[in-house]
Amino acid sequence: MLFDTHTHINDEAFNKDFDDVLHRADEAGVRQMVVIGVDRSSMERVFPIIDHHAAIYGAIGWNPEDAVDMTEADFSWIKVHLKHKKIVALGEIGLDYHWDKSPKPVQHSVFRRQIRLARAAGLPLIIHNREATADTERILREEHAETVGGVMHCYSDNLDWAKKFIQLNFFISFGGTLTFKNAQLQRDTAAEIPLDRLLIETDCPYLTPAPFRGKRNEPARVRLVAEKLAEIKGLSLENLAAVTTANARRCFHLDTDADRDSEQNK
Ligand SMILES: [Zn+2]
Repeated sequence: MLFDTHTHINDEAFNKDFDDVLHRADEAGVRQMVVIGVDRSSMERVFPIIDHHAAIYGAIGWNPEDAVDMTEADFSWIKVHLKHKKIVALGEIGLDYHWDKSPKPVQHSVFRRQIRLARAAGLPLIIHNREATADTERILREEHAETVGGVMHCYSDNLDWAKKFIQLNFFISFGGTLTFKNAQLQRDTAAEIPLDRLLIETDCPYLTPAPFRGKRNEPARVRLVAEKLAEIKGLSLENLAAVTTANARRCFHLDTDADRDSEQNK
């Protein structure tokens, strides 16, 4: 059984064939996934999905690229909706220096405030980092993100950085880029990551693995990521699937739902 820890099946790219997409995921052995909203409209679309599908969990958080657009009302909305019992993480949040729409200080402030929100809610984080590794690590450390931990999504940095993120209680998640020809650094890094810290994801509809690069990605294709990671780790696909699924359930506290419910009812 496979667990796709990072999907955007709430994206309009899936409007026309949503049920077929879920059916193909099931046939590929992808039995659990997280659907992620990153702005008001995509966050709103998370809830009907998690309310109607037992094995799909949700994450909500404001993305760094649009940090300048986040209002106090958005912040309060996230705070309230984190209480839904199938919201298992706050994210994806982080820093993205590739785009210059949101100045760095604004990105930092939106990132810090949301880390504090996750800590208050006792939820793990899903971290987006693009061309901002040193600042991402520093802010996570300064905000004591290790108290909740979480996921370094679509990891593409080297092993030294990975060790720092693992020290901060994060899991390292690999996606379709692991299968790209030019991704030798990622494969070398993945080879050294401890098994109990590995996760897999699609980030669909983006980052489609080889040999389907350029097409729309979907959760069924997390199997291709799992096959590549199994090859790198010298494990059978079944073993790799079991390990990464157990890690995902541990990361998102899915084996302690009862604890969290009783905590919230106090
Ligand atoms: Zn994403």
